[in-house]
Amino acid sequence: MNAEIIAVGTELLLGQIANTNGQHISSRLANHGVNVYKHTVVGDNKKRIQQAIIEARKHHDLIIFTGGLGPTEDDLTREALSELIQVPLIYDEAALEHVEQFFTSRGRTVSEANKKQALTFEGAHVFHNHAGLACGSALEHEGVLYCLLPGPPREMRTMVERELEPYLATMNTSGNFFESRVLRFYGIGESSLEAKLQDLISAQTNPTIAPLAGEDEVTLRLTVTETNTARAKALLDATEQEIYARVGKYLYGFDNDSLYSKALEELACTKSTIATAESITGGGLASSLTSIKGASQVVVGGFVTYSNDAKVSQLGVRQATIDTYGAVSEQCAKEMAEGVRDRCGSTMGIALTGVAGPDELEGLPVGTLFIGVADGNETAVFKRVLSGTRETIRRRAAKEACHVLLL
Ligand code: ATP
Ligand code: MG
Repeated sequence: MNAEIIAVGTELLLGQIANTNGQHISSRLANHGVNVYKHTVVGDNKKRIQQAIIEARKHHDLIIFTGGLGPTEDDLTREALSELIQVPLIYDEAALEHVEQFFTSRGRTVSEANKKQALTFEGAHVFHNHAGLACGSALEHEGVLYCLLPGPPREMRTMVERELEPYLATMNTSGNFFESRVLRFYGIGESSLEAKLQDLISAQTNPTIAPLAGEDEVTLRLTVTETNTARAKALLDATEQEIYARVGKYLYGFDNDSLYSKALEELACTKSTIATAESITGGGLASSLTSIKGASQVVVGGFVTYSNDAKVSQLGVRQATIDTYGAVSEQCAKEMAEGVRDRCGSTMGIALTGVAGPDELEGLPVGTLFIGVADGNETAVFKRVLSGTRETIRRRAAKEACHVLLL
């Protein structure tokens, strides 16, 4: 299937809000093997919505709308489509009850305008709104599947997840279904990765291999079309192995993994706990690690020691180390890691000291980073030179620290 997403709303055209709904829907459709070829934004105007539909249906067999399903005069998506394709609007009983219940339980009566939110097309499949009032619809008409979703992002997201996606999964008439797997790479750029896999990417059709540059990482999405799960899995496994043989050393995880979740997993596997001593990242590493569910099994605590004095007084870094080698040094990272491990009683201590910029420090270039990892037996120190703005360097430093834990 190839799709177009039409976001309806004058506020989008005026630049008052960004079309984040379009982005979200696209990212979800990729999991169903739907190719999104076009995003359109159109104002709250019936004629222009209809023009957009006329154009879209020439090229695409799935058209997804978001916005314009509410109770007000300017909510016109249903009406525009109904009038254009000459399929009448009718009330969906369950949706009407949902709207009525909302108002009566608050001691209010339902206005005609609010009832409008329970309108769907004759013959349509109705999407229940779990997070609001306006129902969504899916209607097949002359070879095109029209899906209407509400505009408020929370309502749209819930409907996509709980209604649209299951619907797309079942309506696949060919008996095929799509399954995809995301491979996550760190430490290699998008173009280098593509260059190493160019022949595979261009030759391969099932699964398809789609590279995407993310924040500080690159992903490959493998999407397979198959009639049964076992075959789909076998095809994905085979392609993954070929990719692994070429660029396996950069592969760190799959699907929803992040460097943070993988680092925690790795530590949990060996029943290790960790404490953080942060200078350059100012607590960013601890913050990102603890944002992951289950972090409490692994993360003990940490120190933010930004000044030299704090490194000495709180972590026990020797003054002589700072005087001789500087705070951004292998020796300082080592003592920070050992100090935080001792003080927090964790099995591992990890320390970050570096130059975030924009100015160089202690004669070291911007981006210089030392990561100390102490495990009680030995302390390893890794030196890196990161590029980017101050903000990017700080973010990347925390990720580098996690990556080091995966080595
Ligand atoms: P409502 O019942 O709130 O009127 P609706 O389905 O008619 O819902 P709209 O009126 O088009 O939807 O939009 C409601 C709100 O949802 C907008 O004010 C905006 O904040 C948000 N919204 C709408 N479309 C988008 C979009 N494409 N991306 C992000 N946010 C959006
Ligand atoms: Mg509205």
